[in-house]
Amino acid sequence: MVRSIMMMIGYVRESSDEARMILLNRHNDQEANNLSHTCLQASSGPYVLTGLVRGQSMHRIPPSHVVGGTGGTGGPNPLPEPKCHYGNCHPTDPKKLNVHLVPHTHNDVGWLKTLDQYYWGSKQGVQNAGVQYILDSVVQALDGEPDRRFIYVETAFFWKWWTHQTDTVKDTVKRLVNNGQLELISGGWSMNDEANSHYSAIIDQMTWGFKRLRDILGEPCGVPRIGWQIDPFGHSREQASLLAQMGFDGMFFSRLDYEDRDKRVRDRTLEMVWRGSDDIPGERSDLFTGAMYLGYVIRD
Ligand SMILES: [Zn+2]
Repeated sequence: MVRSIMMMIGYVRESSDEARMILLNRHNDQEANNLSHTCLQASSGPYVLTGLVRGQSMHRIPPSHVVGGTGGTGGPNPLPEPKCHYGNCHPTDPKKLNVHLVPHTHNDVGWLKTLDQYYWGSKQGVQNAGVQYILDSVVQALDGEPDRRFIYVETAFFWKWWTHQTDTVKDTVKRLVNNGQLELISGGWSMNDEANSHYSAIIDQMTWGFKRLRDILGEPCGVPRIGWQIDPFGHSREQASLLAQMGFDGMFFSRLDYEDRDKRVRDRTLEMVWRGSDDIPGERSDLFTGAMYLGYVIRD
């Protein structure tokens, strides 16, 4: 479904040099009442707290993700030092639970309408969706509002939109990505199905998307760090292995069997480290993975 969606990512600092990255889904009123800090716009409703210890995955982050990089395709006005790293989140209070709210997209690269119909916003009678307007409005909403964040996901749409922008808008987008306000995750041309796709096709479509983002935005800020498989119906271990080997820090999905989800809610194991392969030893195929509690849409 084409829509902009709220997700919530929080950071709890346990000490000055150790940060835990937390993904929060709505779940528990008591925990919601304890929330002390929100970035962007607060969403009403309860939350569930789950977590990712950054130290478990930082080993996979290439040096280019953390410091340095070209920050885009260059030009007469080089971008300042990139701030698209985990350390650039809003200040937090180490004595409180700190919650950061980040809206994100899930724009189907073809579902009830074609890619072009989704992009341009035609056939509104079939589905009320026009991706170009999401990107137009997001850039306007972020520009000049340094506390705001947004995550965009689908490179097929982002690329199409990019080719229709003026140099001024492109410079604005590069600046927003470089300063960490606009983050591209997944990075694939689309969010591939996991049941029927051959692994070589998955690699190809991810590679194509990565290349486009790198060409547009450069390193490190145009390099996605989080996998985003929130709408495939079922999930394969090979997908986890591939994303781990591509260098992702983590991956999130939302569609899992209801009994599995119920058990994970009870056991508080909606987040896990997924061992993607028996054949690839150790951490090379391990991927921090989070299953969303209520799917990828916040409900009233
Ligand atoms: Zn979808």
